[in-house]
Amino acid sequence: MENKGLQYYVDAAKRSMEWHARYLAEMRQCRFDTIAVHGVYSMQESLDFNQGSLIEPVYMSTSQGYRDSDELEAALGYMIPTWCYSRIANPSMYYYEGVLALLDGYGTGQETSCLGTSSGMAAIQSATDPFLVVDPKRPGAPLNFVATCQVYGGTFQQFAIRKEKERGIQWRKVVHSHDLSEWEKLIDENTRFLYGEMPSNPAQAFFDLEKVAALAHKYKLPMIVDATVATPALLRPIQHGADIVVQSVTKSLATSGFAIGGAVISRKNIVSNIDNDEMKADFATYLKLLPNRDNGPNISPMNAIMALNDIRTIRSRMDLVSRSTQKVAEFLASHPDIERVDYLGLPDHPLHELASRYMFLVDAEFDELYGRKVNRYGHLMSFRVKGGAQAARTVFDAFRRIYRATDLGRIKSVATIPAISTHSQQGEEGRKIADIPQNLIRLCVGGEHPDDVIGDLSQSLDALHGKKIFVSGPEYSAGGASSAKLQ
Ligand SMILES: *Cc1c(COP(=O)(O)O)cnc(C)c1O
Repeated sequence: MENKGLQYYVDAAKRSMEWHARYLAEMRQCRFDTIAVHGVYSMQESLDFNQGSLIEPVYMSTSQGYRDSDELEAALGYMIPTWCYSRIANPSMYYYEGVLALLDGYGTGQETSCLGTSSGMAAIQSATDPFLVVDPKRPGAPLNFVATCQVYGGTFQQFAIRKEKERGIQWRKVVHSHDLSEWEKLIDENTRFLYGEMPSNPAQAFFDLEKVAALAHKYKLPMIVDATVATPALLRPIQHGADIVVQSVTKSLATSGFAIGGAVISRKNIVSNIDNDEMKADFATYLKLLPNRDNGPNISPMNAIMALNDIRTIRSRMDLVSRSTQKVAEFLASHPDIERVDYLGLPDHPLHELASRYMFLVDAEFDELYGRKVNRYGHLMSFRVKGGAQAARTVFDAFRRIYRATDLGRIKSVATIPAISTHSQQGEEGRKIADIPQNLIRLCVGGEHPDDVIGDLSQSLDALHGKKIFVSGPEYSAGGASSAKLQ
């Protein structure tokens, strides 16, 4: 058999990459919904390589076979596009990464890349650890990073325990993230990145991203933003100067609750004080091809496709659930048993004005229903019940349709008491600075009709006044045994 030679494959790869770049440029001209529906899965790919399959196929295979030794060598040397081995890459993951890169890059006029991870936490670790390396010119200097203290409970643990306690990397906490001077005074020559969650889960903290990103760049630091709560349908941080975005795709993006997944999305040529040009040029791709190849925290093909199916409708869903949450928040704000409601959409929220400069339903100006820019604030909110911890539990225990679960972003309404669940591990002091009291209930409003969500809340609040409530039996299914501490 005639040997085709390595160059044969490299030339073929060049032609396909050029075709692909043209296709991507074409997709970037489309509106958000079109990108969400089709992503990077083209009709050509469907017809030529996937038997016309309309929906992206799930490639469960662990690995890819090659035609000959030349193709194998070119592939393993990253000279041709290849997926090689599913710890590193896989066609189904590629569709997931491609669409998320385009969505978070939408309207930025910039090229973006994405790395798919097995969870939102893996995305946060993947996005932050590469910066936490010692500068050879300053050996022994203790590293630090500056991040908002109002973060998701898992992020709090990763920062406080895994990074600070176990590795001695200092987390300098920004308590009032809308105060720019607080960020600046925490930065020094051993700072590696600025990190913020906006809006935060559950506290709804929000900061002026354009100003904080400018501050990061002034000190040659990357700006990393967790925008899970907003989703790219309402906020795309790269448009406002962020270098890197992390998403827990598990939440609103994959609303049906069939997948755990995360993503790191970066713009080209990120800012960093670390001497690593390859990392800075294309951060997400660098993570994919090098550190994550070696560490292995990538998403599985099944999770990627399950998430894709939900991502297609993210814009219209975020519009619907934001409008419902606004109604629910207004109902609660006027209820006599409620001490306080935190939702950025309420005009008297102290950060309403700031959030209104950032959070818009993407493409509303091209929607025949609106024809102009409209603010939307997502479906996460919290409320505090008058009467303290026990009163909050009484209301919580009376929900009949709103699920009690440590989850959010679902198409079904879900609530939790963060002080005894998502944020229990960070302790009293940690909750105090993050402003998470015991009577606070976090509610994520789903796709039900808002009147029915309000109905459930209303009857639950009646439980405070002695109304008898429904309680389910104490039977457990065997599936829970794996996580229960059985005696
Ligand atoms: C849930 C969540 C995460 C973590 O995501 P997982 O997919 O559960 O690992 C990170 N950030 C925010 C804001 C979240 O809500």
